[in-house]
Amino acid sequence: MNIRTSTLDGETLVIEIEDGDTGSVVDLMNARENGFALFGEDIEAPIAVVDGRLFRKSWFTADHLLAIEAHELGHIHMESIEEPVAEREGIRLLESAGRIVAANILKERGIA
Ligand SMILES: [Zn+2]
Repeated sequence: MNIRTSTLDGETLVIEIEDGDTGSVVDLMNARENGFALFGEDIEAPIAVVDGRLFRKSWFTADHLLAIEAHELGHIHMESIEEPVAEREGIRLLESAGRIVAANILKERGIA
């Protein structure tokens, strides 16, 4: 498990799940796809959780993982569970950071 502060906003905690990790966060991840965000009234500090085990797939790159992170930050920043809202904020964050490849990954999947 790799825990860091997001480079996209300099403040949100990011947990990257890695091969071999176990525990409650991993169980939550296994019930979803790619990533999820913990935020809201009951959460003291929001956390973006991303699934680094996707690096097992040969096509999966660091830009894909960053795109997932940006999407989850989108949920947190907008305090929204709506996918297009999170996606648009994710794209905005990536473009602001000059991470165009990752921004295009989100644009091309057509959620925004
Ligand atoms: Zn989402």
